[in-house]
Amino acid sequence: MRIIADTHTHTIASTHAYSTAEEMINAAARRGLYAIALTDHGYAMPGSPGKWFFESLGAIPPVVNGVRVLKGVEANVMDLQGRLDMPDSVLSDLEWVVASIHGGLVSEKPSFEGSTNAYLELAKNPYVNVIGHSGTADFKYDYEKVIPVFAQNGKLVEINDNTFNSRKSSCQNCVEIAKVCKKTGSPVIVNSDAHFSSRVGACSLALQMLREIDFPEELIINSSVSRFKKYLTNNGVQLFQE
Ligand SMILES: [Zn+2]
Ligand SMILES: [Zn+2]
Repeated sequence: MRIIADTHTHTIASTHAYSTAEEMINAAARRGLYAIALTDHGYAMPGSPGKWFFESLGAIPPVVNGVRVLKGVEANVMDLQGRLDMPDSVLSDLEWVVASIHGGLVSEKPSFEGSTNAYLELAKNPYVNVIGHSGTADFKYDYEKVIPVFAQNGKLVEINDNTFNSRKSSCQNCVEIAKVCKKTGSPVIVNSDAHFSSRVGACSLALQMLREIDFPEELIINSSVSRFKKYLTNNGVQLFQE
């Protein structure tokens, strides 16, 4: 089992990542990936790029070095109503939106019910493709209740490889999330969250965890080119390649 697209990556534009867009894309080509999504951080993350950056991503061709480059963002959830830090007018022009909670940026201290509500509201956002690294202990939510709602709304639950490297406190929750996805037939996407080119497509720890729980491959949207292309087509994203 391998991944054919890495849909959560950061470039120097995030200012705490260290490779250019071109370096990230070339790394994806070397790994033989079909696609990469460039998802630099949304406005609220300190040091993140602004409106002109996201509105000018069309400067990068749709296919570079044989790799489909999806123009995206990792938007920040700002409150327990699930509101994001990017206006709909910008999100609607992007091809790929990961939405994540980053602790320090949320205005209120959440309870279990508060986090559950934030994710239920987020599930309604029509521009969001992926629910990013939602295993954070401080924002634990009702997985059994929310994950089927993600699936009903076409959202992909992210299994984030970086969690197994740098967010170790979230690992157990991540396993629990994957088990609920398996039980409820909810689709997931496995991403690196790379902040440097050598990490593009590197998801061995996340994949190993999924193997250990006998996770069905057909629920991993980016484990086959045809499955991933089908998701893109169903969500109005142009393929540009055969
Ligand atoms: Zn993140
Ligand atoms: Zn990220």
